[in-house]
Amino acid sequence: MDSRRHNFRLVRPKSTRELDTGRVAISVVVPVYNEETNLNPLYERLSRVLTKIGSFEILFVDDGSTDNSASIIRALSAEDHRIGAFFFSRNFGHEAATSCGLHNASGQTVAIIDADLQDPPEVLLEMYEQWKNGYDVVYGQRRSRKNEPLNVRFTSSIFYYAFRALSKVNMPVNTGDFRLMDEKVVASFKEFPERNRYVRGLTFWSGYRQKAVLFDRDKRFSGKTKYNFFKRANLAFDAICGISGAPLRLATLAGFAATLLSLTIAAHVVYAKFIHNIPFQGYALLTSGLFLIGGVQLFTLGLLGEYVGRIYREVQQRPLYVLKERLCPKGSQPTLEKTGHK
Ligand code: UDP
Ligand code: MG
Repeated sequence: MDSRRHNFRLVRPKSTRELDTGRVAISVVVPVYNEETNLNPLYERLSRVLTKIGSFEILFVDDGSTDNSASIIRALSAEDHRIGAFFFSRNFGHEAATSCGLHNASGQTVAIIDADLQDPPEVLLEMYEQWKNGYDVVYGQRRSRKNEPLNVRFTSSIFYYAFRALSKVNMPVNTGDFRLMDEKVVASFKEFPERNRYVRGLTFWSGYRQKAVLFDRDKRFSGKTKYNFFKRANLAFDAICGISGAPLRLATLAGFAATLLSLTIAAHVVYAKFIHNIPFQGYALLTSGLFLIGGVQLFTLGLLGEYVGRIYREVQQRPLYVLKERLCPKGSQPTLEKTGHK
């Protein structure tokens, strides 16, 4: 037997990536909607961490804040030339704000982080190390969700289950937008033309080498979440419909099941009448059958409408967001047209 075959050890290269020193090492995208009390503490912590990585830019995207967030961002960018800022003409939503940051990032790696310090900036160091090890998407995964309310945990797990089952995208549970990506992943993200988008789902959909980094998600530094139950439900529905046509098949199945049920009932009525001579009785059965069929039809129509509405929005080709102003970090090249198209 060849003994040499037993002597090798698989050694993964410690660092497969080297930094291009002439370029920004990391761009950090921060979507901001009414976060006036969080921005300064975030900047302090973030810049302390990013200095350890190398050259960086922080891109604040102000999603139409109505508090003092915009002027705080302006003051920060006047003090620090590594800060870029984008100001939307109104609130376009978190997914649009994140997309704007990604469209404009110029770093070799690009991270997304929430403005409320729920995602600890220090975790970026480990994410960056994993990128250096050769991973293209390094995403934060919550170690536990124990300090979140039970209803949030319950609805989230239903969402993850439905999303994975229906979309065939293997999105890991308990992940948010907190992630670091290689520039090539961001380049492919820029190719996505759709208006209805779910950023984290799309980055998982893209493929590439992906790696989780476990972390404990903190409480909001201050202020309140912008996501109530209905906004979360909307986002979940958009995420699923945006990536999969499977709900339409569910509607077909529901129609099929209702048809089977009514045929069974009809067979039972015929059998009772002609074999046992029991006449068909009772309007209760008739009414509930009617309601059942009506319900299935309305459900199916509604679902079709949801998709038609989405198709309508896509063909309108409206921009994802409207920028009223931008402040570029010094040295970076503006890459975006004013309207947010690629
Ligand atoms: N956000 C945004 N536009 C919105 C809502 C939220 O840019 O319409 C930002 C918000 O400022 C924060 C991030 O998206 O930086 C996540 O929002 P939030 O903390 O309210 O969500 P949660 O963490 O509760 O899911
Ligand atoms: Mg938050």
